[in-house]
Amino acid sequence: MMDLYQEMWTSKKVTGDNFCQCGSAGKHWQNHIMLSLTAYPCTAKGCANKATVGGHIVSENFPQGYIVPLCDSCNQSDEPIQIKYGALFVSADLSITCQKGSRSKAKTDELPDENMDVQDDEKIEKIADEDDFNKLNDFEKLGVLTGCECEFGCSVENYFKYREKGKKEGFIPVLVDTDDVFFEQLEILLKCESERSISRIKEIVEEYHEKMLAMPVVDGKAYLEKNHIDAKWDEAELEDDEFEAEEQFTKGGYIVKVPVTEPWRIWAYLPYGGWNACPDVSVHMAVSKYWYKQYGAYPAALSFDTIDYAVEKPVEDLEKLANEIGTYCFDIVEQGCETYSALALELKNSRIWNLWWD
Ligand SMILES: [Zn+2]
Ligand SMILES: [Zn+2]
Repeated sequence: MMDLYQEMWTSKKVTGDNFCQCGSAGKHWQNHIMLSLTAYPCTAKGCANKATVGGHIVSENFPQGYIVPLCDSCNQSDEPIQIKYGALFVSADLSITCQKGSRSKAKTDELPDENMDVQDDEKIEKIADEDDFNKLNDFEKLGVLTGCECEFGCSVENYFKYREKGKKEGFIPVLVDTDDVFFEQLEILLKCESERSISRIKEIVEEYHEKMLAMPVVDGKAYLEKNHIDAKWDEAELEDDEFEAEEQFTKGGYIVKVPVTEPWRIWAYLPYGGWNACPDVSVHMAVSKYWYKQYGAYPAALSFDTIDYAVEKPVEDLEKLANEIGTYCFDIVEQGCETYSALALELKNSRIWNLWWD
């Protein structure tokens, strides 16, 4: 996802109300992001205008391109543009967005009858090519390795809207920052790191889901009590009036729509951890289950070394929470805020808990 912010884009200067079945490109963006586009600044770097339209931007690496909020003048410009860091991209590929599921006529038209006459070995090569995991882009890889539907972009402000949407549609959204290390971790835990056939990986992934979902979840509260790590508590640190909670996800990325209703089950689809001090998958499941019952917490965002949890309302008993989070993730205390009281201050009034393992 990060590379989208490095990319040099060109505007396709789309206007009008017939971009897709959503209507205009701006409406297409709004339908997916669920926020008003005109509430945003123009996402072109260096531009201070307000956004007025959904701009369709393309590049050599991303020929199908994306829709981002732009002002009229940036949308009509011939200059190459870069997009501001953190801007939300919605794919302009209609087959994975608003027309998803409706088998496109264009696709079948692409296969003229002459295709029936190609040499047999050519055919075989083509199939092998299509089944090659390494040929996929990050978005497609994420879809294969999780077996879930994925979408583009999300921020704290619309994360909770996605969660509401998920309650109706039967998924839990998890924001995922994909990079090579993240994929490596996923592939190792799924035990498919030496497998390159997409169809074979899909089978492995499905078997893994079944196995993990059937596994009994251990008692997360008991785990935290048994493994409790003590750290300094200095009440005075909580009196810092200057401190303002920063409610943000550590990293941005794609949304994985995990088809479960209970948040601890997402770890069956996004296995994580088991390296250095980061607990293994069964512990994430156990602690998540306990935190969901106790605080209504959801694992909300992942990168290769961070997990952000989200609660609808900040937790009141900060001492208890800081002790629990510190035990689960002592690296943020030992190498960060140093005391549980300083950790509690960061959690005060915050709906997002940022965890990180070294
Ligand atoms: Zn659309
Ligand atoms: Zn602009």
